[in-house]
Amino acid sequence: FIKVEKLHKVFGNLHVLKSIDLSIRKGETVCLIGSSGSGKSTLLRCLNFMEYPTAGRISVKGKTVGKETGTMLDAPTFRYDEKALSEHRQHIGMVFQQFNLFPHMSVLENVMEGPRTVLGKRRDEVEAEALKQLARVGLSEKADQYPSRLSGGQQQRVAIARALAMQPDVMLFDEVTSSLDPELVGEVLNVMKDLSAEGMTMIVVTHELGFAYHVADRVLFLHGGQILEQGPPEKILKNPAEPRIQQFLSGFS
Ligand code: ATP
Ligand code: MG
Repeated sequence: FIKVEKLHKVFGNLHVLKSIDLSIRKGETVCLIGSSGSGKSTLLRCLNFMEYPTAGRISVKGKTVGKETGTMLDAPTFRYDEKALSEHRQHIGMVFQQFNLFPHMSVLENVMEGPRTVLGKRRDEVEAEALKQLARVGLSEKADQYPSRLSGGQQQRVAIARALAMQPDVMLFDEVTSSLDPELVGEVLNVMKDLSAEGMTMIVVTHELGFAYHVADRVLFLHGGQILEQGPPEKILKNPAEPRIQQFLSGFS
């Protein structure tokens, strides 16, 4: 469904992603773990081209994004035109640690913003769908509130509804509970768990190992810009082959 081949990302003289190969099946939930600086965010950002890969191929539903132009670092390089990228990005929902809601818009207006500005739809065309997404994250009754009146957990659920309103094929989550008070983490993880159960394809960067254990179909451990080990959560989180993962896990609990 999503295929990443020999993906490299270089910032100046910092080689952040080193030949990442990754296939994600439709409906799969993949959790990405690893220490700070290992390249988790960079990998997610490359997937929706918020960062341009230095080299390597990204394909969605069998279609490669961009036109192949040559090779670098033993991987093919591509040229991307903005029209193709904006088309590609429309099918990818992304949620960040910071909620990034528009403070001057109501919750409902925030959720309708993407379909209205990106897809150019009218309010009456998108309102019912936006309300449906708000119901999905349990916030129907907050539609007319402003974000500042909501708790962090509620704001993050609005951010998820806003991403869902674009009908994405895949959702990317980058440490979406990291800035929340501990008692608010669960409500956001529950929404993500439901999404996963409904068959959404998801890539989740998280330090919530309980979530990874119970919800992920597969866990990937990223280290120094490479996938050091991947497999079912029971394997990676309970009995990893790699000493570095054992060491990483011992830092929790
Ligand atoms: P964390 O757990 O702290 O979020 P991470 O695994 O998400 O870490 P990245 O944010 O992907 O790590 O960063 C990987 C490396 O790339 C870091 O050394 C970081 O400083 C560097 N880096 C990330 N973005 C840029 C950028 N735009 N320019 C230069 N270096 C960058
Ligand atoms: Mg990060």
